Amino acid sequence: MSKHCVIIGAGIVGASCAWHLQRKGLDITLIDSELPGQSCTFGNAACISASSVIPFSYPGLIKKTPGWMLDPLGPMRIRPRDLPSLLPWFWKFWRVSNMPKVEAIAGMQALLMRTVAADYDEILAGAKATHLKVSRGAIHVYDTEKEYLAEQWKRDLSARLGFETQRLEPAQLKAMVPSLKLEDGVAMLMPDWQHLLNPAKATELIAEHCFTNGGKWLQDRITSASANSSGVHLQTESGRRIKADKLVVAAGAWSNFIAEQLDHKVSMIAKRGYHAMLSNPGIDLRYPVMSLSRVFVMTPLEDGLRIAGTAEFAALDAAPDYRRAKALLKQASHYLEGLQVDDASEWMGSRPMMADSIPVISMSPRHQNVFYAFGHGHYGLTQGPTTGRIISAMVAGHEPEIDLAAFRFDR
Ligand SMILES: Cc1cc2nc3c(=O)[nH]c(=O)nc-3n(C[C@H](O)[C@H](O)[C@H](O)COP(=O)(O)OP(=O)(O)OC[C@H]3O[C@@H](n4cnc5c(N)ncnc54)[C@H](O)[C@@H]3O)c2cc1C
Repeated sequence: MSKHCVIIGAGIVGASCAWHLQRKGLDITLIDSELPGQSCTFGNAACISASSVIPFSYPGLIKKTPGWMLDPLGPMRIRPRDLPSLLPWFWKFWRVSNMPKVEAIAGMQALLMRTVAADYDEILAGAKATHLKVSRGAIHVYDTEKEYLAEQWKRDLSARLGFETQRLEPAQLKAMVPSLKLEDGVAMLMPDWQHLLNPAKATELIAEHCFTNGGKWLQDRITSASANSSGVHLQTESGRRIKADKLVVAAGAWSNFIAEQLDHKVSMIAKRGYHAMLSNPGIDLRYPVMSLSRVFVMTPLEDGLRIAGTAEFAALDAAPDYRRAKALLKQASHYLEGLQVDDASEWMGSRPMMADSIPVISMSPRHQNVFYAFGHGHYGLTQGPTTGRIISAMVAGHEPEIDLAAFRFDR
């Protein structure tokens, strides 16, 4: 008889876990209080950014933050009233900002990033969703040569790990993105990047593919979880009791609520981001364009242009501050000639952000039938299918293909 496995969370990570677990022959139930792909997965910048291996905590970052923080609508903000509860996380974040740690973390990220393209090809082909992926690369820009040179170490480290960038001549850039104004800036092509035309739709199709093959769907919130050697016991908000043989916790920024009942909390916070979506931008952008000076991305999607970014450190349930999404429109207008910003819709989402920038892909330290897949921060869309493949192998008891020590829950 096949084992029953419950997956909590139907974002890109949970849906990918469900898809792979079903292929391994498990009897799966995917549970979420929202429909598949509706939380953080819904509104991200849609980039499959395989070369993004550099962690967010690195030497010199601290010098940049006062400038960012002084601008109330700049790329980073900490809500003062939430600061005390965030301090332990910031302490751990600062502790990994030295070069040996940065190099080690980048190496760990590269272990996952090397297979994301193949993992996406596999899952989208299976879910009949290949039409939603564009493999054209992306463009990164700096406003000045000085900023470009200051981050040479990041490109050198990425190159050592196998991820190259190509500096573009002004004429090449003009041909690729005619509407981009860069003046004295620097542009690079990121050949390893791909993007999805609709991340929510891709996630929905991955989940639906599981359901058409017999997987079960339950829209409900898990309120309590326990496990022992005979199985996993869950209760839902609507009063259901569910018993399973195995459990995968893929609840994104909310995963600590479940983890603390089964093991303990980990050092993860909600690093909130915003987007503004323009259904009639008035320009035609063929590539995602990321400004590394102003820290945001402009991505052409099937239903318009998405301008996404910002890092807001606040409590998970704090009200959104949509002025931050409006500020992104101003930043985009700085770069894009003729951009029409009148019909913008706004969104906020919570990145599940670990202090060391490395996701948790792990068996529970206490329960051999509980597995964790969360904490992907800025790269959950990129790493979701890869995480799903690795988790499914772990649940099936196979030896991992890569050393997963750095991804352990109790690292
Ligand atoms: C502005 C912005 C831009 C981004 N751009 C990119 C990008 O370009 N590329 C990239 O790779 N990543 C990007 N990200 C990050 C990416 O979106 C996230 O890492 C990813 O979506 C996380 O996926 P997830 O499945 O872990 O979480 P989610 O998509 O948040 O899904 C978790 C799900 O768990 C459910 N859940 C939680 N608790 C319970 C419970 N108790 N019971 C039932 N259900 C529960 C929630 O309802 C939710 O649907 C961006 C993020 C933001 C905010």
